[in-house]
Amino acid sequence: MGLAATLRALERATRPYDPEFTDAMKRRWAELPEVARTPGQIVGRHGVGCEGTHGVFPRCNLKCTPCYHSRDANRVRVDGAHTRQEVAAQVRLLRKLRGPRGHTQLIGGEVSLLPPDDHAATLSVMREHGREPMSFTHGDFDYDYLERLALGPDGRPRFSRLSFAAHFDRFMYGRRGIERPPGERELDPYRRRFTAMFARLKRQHGISYFLAHNMTVTPGNLDEIAAVIRANHTAGYGMFSFQPAAFIGDERRWKENYREATPDAVWSQIERGAGARLDYDVFHNGDVRCNRTAYGFYVGSRWFPFLDGDDPRDIAVRDAFFHYLGRVSFTGTPPALLAGKLLRIAVRHPRTVAIALGWLARAMRRVGVLRLLRHRFRVRPVTFVMHQFMDAEQVAPAWELTRRGATSDDPKVRETQERLAACHYAMAHPEDGTLVPACVQHAVLDPAENAALRRLLPIVEVR
Ligand code: SF4
Repeated sequence: MGLAATLRALERATRPYDPEFTDAMKRRWAELPEVARTPGQIVGRHGVGCEGTHGVFPRCNLKCTPCYHSRDANRVRVDGAHTRQEVAAQVRLLRKLRGPRGHTQLIGGEVSLLPPDDHAATLSVMREHGREPMSFTHGDFDYDYLERLALGPDGRPRFSRLSFAAHFDRFMYGRRGIERPPGERELDPYRRRFTAMFARLKRQHGISYFLAHNMTVTPGNLDEIAAVIRANHTAGYGMFSFQPAAFIGDERRWKENYREATPDAVWSQIERGAGARLDYDVFHNGDVRCNRTAYGFYVGSRWFPFLDGDDPRDIAVRDAFFHYLGRVSFTGTPPALLAGKLLRIAVRHPRTVAIALGWLARAMRRVGVLRLLRHRFRVRPVTFVMHQFMDAEQVAPAWELTRRGATSDDPKVRETQERLAACHYAMAHPEDGTLVPACVQHAVLDPAENAALRRLLPIVEVR
């Protein structure tokens, strides 16, 4: 390639805004109900929301209470070819309807029941369609599995980066070494063992990683949230996500009055664990009744928010971020290209540099220079999330009305309809070209889907 052609290619590659990504976000914003068009709304301003797979490998080898899968899930064989084919069809539709970039969870039953080569091939298909994949696991697998997933038959890395969300809570039964955990504290070594495998993978093969820690919350472990965060914030997780239990999925596994673990009660326990007030109104992901999020970082044992919601100058930073950088796709863009895009924005809009420097100075003041020096400027980004699924009996009638294009007069049903309309977590149905909220998938569609899968992929008993 000649110099002129190289410069032209570089100019194209570092254009800050991808028109296709911008159009996808405009569509998402237009779809949001009025109640979700808040100043901090990320959907439609800097992303299209999360996505997840379904109907691929519903089986799991632990037993959770509650379990969001329908009762047929464990009667379906895990089949690598089926997973690859179905996921390919789903991400193709996601690419078409939600644009060129997305965060997509490879989720079903237990992902590590997939043979490593099929797991790897599925992640590659997701990436080919612009999806940044995250594999969902209970974390009870060995380094050998991780290595076989991460390395190709030639022993070389297949990926430069892997993302996993690992679910740990005391109501998951059957984990090797701790069949029935007496409490959350006893699971901490297992939480750390999981992240240690990825640290080893990075050391040995240079593969970087992002790990999220998921935990279902019931009245039975509500009081243990804070200790889980305190004991594990240095373990290597970049996100702690808590899901207050909902009456959804297999009703044989509903054990407690889950509604006693209210969103406020859960959030205040997360705040206790973080040792800070967590303002979930600076940024919204979909409807705040579904998702609360606080973005920030640890320096030593203290957590600080990226933006202080009580400081109007920080709120102005957020607004400027959406204005100048919202349409830049960070996901999946190689760091050098991303730097090129940001540089071009800075040159075109010099005030962004002043805004960024002002923010940096304030953030450093908040942390304290002494603390930064003491910890050698080691900053660990950690996001706190709470995702509140809705009960099946709430979702089914609301979804039926939504499908008919009707809106309920009942405030409770209307609230459910609004939450579904602003859903941050979509699943694709290539057979009819639609996307549905994950609540609808689990509450309404999973039972029939898993019954059909049971016939398609029966488990053959071998004597
Ligand atoms: S899956 Fe349900 S709870 Fe989650 S964002 Fe969508 S509508 Fe809200």
